[in-house]
Amino acid sequence: MLEEALELKDEVIKLRRDFHMHPELGFEEFRTSDVVEEYLENLGIEVKRMCTTGVVGSLKNGSGRVFALRADMDALPITEKNDVPYRSRHPGKMHACGHDAHIAMLLVAAKILSNKDFDGEIRFIFQPAEEGFNGALKMVTEGAIDGVEAIAGVHVWSELESGTLAISPGPVMASVDGFKVIVRGKGGHGASPHQTIDPVVIASSIVLNLQTIVSRNVSPLKSAVVTVGRIYGGTAFNIVPDAVTLEGTVRAFEPEIRDLIENRIFTISRRIAEAYGADVEIEYTRMNKATVNDEKLTDLAIKVAKRMGKWKPQDRTMGGEDFSEYASRIPGVFAFLGVRNEKKGIVYPHHSPKFDVDEDALPIGVAFEASMALEFLKQGMD
Ligand code: ZN
Repeated sequence: MLEEALELKDEVIKLRRDFHMHPELGFEEFRTSDVVEEYLENLGIEVKRMCTTGVVGSLKNGSGRVFALRADMDALPITEKNDVPYRSRHPGKMHACGHDAHIAMLLVAAKILSNKDFDGEIRFIFQPAEEGFNGALKMVTEGAIDGVEAIAGVHVWSELESGTLAISPGPVMASVDGFKVIVRGKGGHGASPHQTIDPVVIASSIVLNLQTIVSRNVSPLKSAVVTVGRIYGGTAFNIVPDAVTLEGTVRAFEPEIRDLIENRIFTISRRIAEAYGADVEIEYTRMNKATVNDEKLTDLAIKVAKRMGKWKPQDRTMGGEDFSEYASRIPGVFAFLGVRNEKKGIVYPHHSPKFDVDEDALPIGVAFEASMALEFLKQGMD
């Protein structure tokens, strides 16, 4: 399989560069989805459109098992700073997370699979809007995984040695939540603080106390993050404002830890505000669940990666993924493909305006995806 994928290396790179030059943001993947649809149709794969810019291909042979492979297609609102011939043609938009590579790899995997003999169905899910819009949930709602028994996804990973496949069972990416705390005090003159209820001081106290959740409430053996990333309020140096707003994010692997943190954010914010005589308004939004790799399916994925000589244990990350919408409903495995780009000397992280993948690794992702589908259809997870 790897040999076959290597023979198609030029094609996967050409596709990736084409998508890279034409990045589109979440739910705006119009050109991208047209290219995907046309490519699949040329392979004789049955295609359905979903969620406007989502594409689902179905390759069917007989009535056996049903396996799905997933790629996300959206770019980020970043202006590219790489000086390469395939640089983004659209200022303010860039494939800075590698989703261009995901689309290209899955298309070429579909090409290889369209020439194979197997019993069952392979579903190719090209979803819109992974970056913060939860496109996966919308695809699930519109039936993308109806009848599917298991699913695999690959994410290119810039820190990981190029060409390795990092795969481990259990939670590999964190749940992602957002919160907003509005502290309403009483404004006044900066020189007469005693006549005000100062929301700046109260908000500051809340920020510091929120940091005790991870250090004092979560077990030291568990992982969690509480980050306040935004704080705003006030209009001038000598005015005590009426209100101050805090915004932040919460990351965790276990649902119990997630619940615990949510509760503590409410309690701490309310009690502190109350102690100072202020009001508080709290919004808490659950965005993505944790991405948890199914034990048995992960065994199969590790076997496939080991056979290719590319397997490594996966380091968990507190980053999130809407792949969890699939993997929380059916057995799923989410693998990281190393694309560490040493050619430029410095390795730029995901979401950097200088992010760039090592394209030599892409055939390995292609071979992994195609092999996973065939192995699953052949033997299931036993
Ligand atoms: Zn991504």
